[in-house]
Amino acid sequence: MGHQMFEYDAKLAEEVYLYCRDRLTHPVPLDFGGLSPDPLPELTGLITAEGRNPHEILEFWEKRMASHVVSIDSPGFLAFIPNAPTKNSLMFDMLVACSGLNGTSWLESAGVVIAENQALEFLAATVGMPEGSGGAFVSGGSMGNLSSLTVGRDVGRAKNPDLSPHEVRFAVSEDAHSSIGKALHVLGIEALVVKDDDHRFTRANLEAALANDPNPRSVVGIIATSGTTNAGIVDDLAGLGSFAREQDLWFHVDGAYGGAAMFSPTHRHLLEGIRHADSFIVDPHKWLFAPLDSCALIYRNPTVARKVLAQQASYLDVLHGSDDENYEWNPSDFAIHLSRRARGLPFWFSLVTNGVDAYETAVQAAIDIAAAAVKQIDEAPHVEMVRPSSLSIVLFRRKGWTAGQYNAWSQQLLRDQIAFVTPTKWEGETVARFAFLHPDTSEELVRQILDSMLD
Ligand SMILES: *Cc1c(COP(=O)(O)O)cnc(C)c1O
Repeated sequence: MGHQMFEYDAKLAEEVYLYCRDRLTHPVPLDFGGLSPDPLPELTGLITAEGRNPHEILEFWEKRMASHVVSIDSPGFLAFIPNAPTKNSLMFDMLVACSGLNGTSWLESAGVVIAENQALEFLAATVGMPEGSGGAFVSGGSMGNLSSLTVGRDVGRAKNPDLSPHEVRFAVSEDAHSSIGKALHVLGIEALVVKDDDHRFTRANLEAALANDPNPRSVVGIIATSGTTNAGIVDDLAGLGSFAREQDLWFHVDGAYGGAAMFSPTHRHLLEGIRHADSFIVDPHKWLFAPLDSCALIYRNPTVARKVLAQQASYLDVLHGSDDENYEWNPSDFAIHLSRRARGLPFWFSLVTNGVDAYETAVQAAIDIAAAAVKQIDEAPHVEMVRPSSLSIVLFRRKGWTAGQYNAWSQQLLRDQIAFVTPTKWEGETVARFAFLHPDTSEELVRQILDSMLD
């Protein structure tokens, strides 16, 4: 007899399969998120020495807890950056969960590593990074940025032994994602914050900032954004990238959201400069239709990243036993992590099974619905664009509204189960923001949302 906790409960399994099948087959409801003031008093005392009946707890989850979630994969979820995983990616995620995989090392799961690397190589090639580029899938853009910038910092220090270690800096734009500021804080280094024209980081801005800086030599890297989160603006990647090459600086491109535009026939040209990147990230869990917990982190020279980030310990020596780097590709060596879920596999399976054309169509659909929304906004008298839309982000204004009115409207829209749209700030003003991503978001829904701003 095995231990009771590890026994298979056929009835419970059936209930869980049914629940998952339901979520996969029914149109996704928006649900109500944290808006309910009900603190779920039934939760008190649930954890006991003897344990509880799993069927009852599953039912409790379904009836009382699962409804306190705003489903991020609804076509009506237009806040922050949505997530719209394909059915195939969700199914493969379940398979990964049940498979006992540790995606840490070649030794433990070579089959996983080969599949994940195929996906990374495809992404690298699509943005024009050279053959031999590679890295690992990490939990999200924040971890991808932190890992990349750790490598960039150490490379910058090694090239400039005369600088004191905390003197090295990165040039960043005012509009870089909050995770960049956090990463630099963790790394204990300062930024040269470059003022943009119209929120776009360009080579000209950078050169002007360096010309006015008392210590320009301390700038060892450039951080560009390929699609700002708030507005979708793509920096001057070609200009910044070529400057980085000329000056021998680390060039990091944060494409967590907008890197996916590599699949857009109409917008991929904006990303051309990514080919200069020393490190690049894109989140499959954003606009590449994979479930949450997936960022593709790619280095131009993975060997350099491995030297900085691989963990050394006696019990891990067996992972690094051979000199053949290609044979012994350990995803754990390329980021600040060790044990890892095989978090690239759901994306890999979806890309392989749906095909690249389907990805192009789905990414393009979000850009097209953004364009349709702009048209509706231009035609409606009560709303107006704040600035031209970029990629799939639309910033617009309800004429005459205060911040309080935007907030009340946003909450009512969710309560009415129409959509989840949250306000943002643009140049100090509270405005409305659509982040399109789900290819099933319809023009009718956009019309309904705009109409709801009439009163
Ligand atoms: C979302 C985002 C991040 C952070 O990614 P997470 O996956 O949420 O950690 C970083 N940069 C940009 C540009 C983003 O849009």
